[in-house]
Amino acid sequence: MSAVEGLDLLTGEAVRLHVSDGLIAEREPLPKGKSERLPFIAPGLVDLQINGAAGVDFNRPPVTAEGFRHAVSALWAHGVTSFCPTVITNGTEQMERLLEQIRHASSADPAIRGSVAGFHLEGPFLSPEDGPRGAHPREHIRRPDIRLLERWQEAAGGLIRIVTLAPEWDEAPAFIRHCVKQGIIVSIGHTAADSAQIREAVRAGASLSTHLGNGAHPVLPRHPNYIWDQLAADELYAAMIADGFHLPASVLKVFCRVKAGKAVLVSDAVSLAGMPPGTYKAHIGGDVVLTEEGKLHLAETPELLAGSAKLLLHGVEHLARLGIAALAEAWRMASLLPASLLKLPAASGLSAGSPADIVVLRLDGDRLHVCRTYKSGRLVYERA
Ligand SMILES: [Zn+2]
Repeated sequence: MSAVEGLDLLTGEAVRLHVSDGLIAEREPLPKGKSERLPFIAPGLVDLQINGAAGVDFNRPPVTAEGFRHAVSALWAHGVTSFCPTVITNGTEQMERLLEQIRHASSADPAIRGSVAGFHLEGPFLSPEDGPRGAHPREHIRRPDIRLLERWQEAAGGLIRIVTLAPEWDEAPAFIRHCVKQGIIVSIGHTAADSAQIREAVRAGASLSTHLGNGAHPVLPRHPNYIWDQLAADELYAAMIADGFHLPASVLKVFCRVKAGKAVLVSDAVSLAGMPPGTYKAHIGGDVVLTEEGKLHLAETPELLAGSAKLLLHGVEHLARLGIAALAEAWRMASLLPASLLKLPAASGLSAGSPADIVVLRLDGDRLHVCRTYKSGRLVYERA
């Protein structure tokens, strides 16, 4: 039995969390007056979409146990205790091999295995159109195919939990119903769907929008369009990239207001998250440029972003700094909310009976500094 003390970032209460067998055994309130010197504590962040970190690319084979550990350690250091490694559009065999490799790479250590909340398959059932397709390679885009999904699910050891697809394919409604039956979350993204197709996808059980407002045409009819349609569908959670580049503040604000209680933050970070500025060879889209400010775009078409180079913690800070959400609310949008979408036990936060996925933080102006991270009660990161 050990204990972690702090001010609960979400409630403001000073508490001592007693940890036993990987769980929060007891949440003990601390007397008033003891709170001044305490750090903040918060439930671990949950990232639904992440393609790599710290130079390790989940889409570039081989993904080794050592490489994966390196990436997960970087996530822990930034307060992430659960995440969905995201495998994007690629050849059928390559995707199968990557899923197998990531599964094996994550199985070596219980804390690493426990941090993988499931795989996110982003593609290849996306729009082939320039714009909505984003940086996904056109030659590998294909129609939704249940057989193929089953093959990948086998390679993934049943760990595929989210599939992003474009619902305008004729096969989409049946495919979505199949996924939902298997407990897979279907997310609408990289799409050029019309209103009826979005509605049909929602009826079939789609429950999320992938990085809403990105992976879209640069110019859209004022209305109707697939962004309004997804905003208006109350059934859909909206995942947003709040890195400061993917969505302007006004759009972030409107998405947060409209989707109140269903707006979640994702990083969509690529392996270059945390690397120095420069030109890099990416798995998709050829050369990419990482600017001084941390913006990542295709070298040939600078208006096309190539994922984010910022981790989830930055999105929380960004939203709070803009005044769109209070810090506690922004943190909730990147922890409890995505956890509840995935039906993770971590969705109950820092309460008795929850997994001891705890981040100890210091607030310095509008910057958050992670001091320690616990995964299932095990100290997996401590700031030097
Ligand atoms: Zn995408």
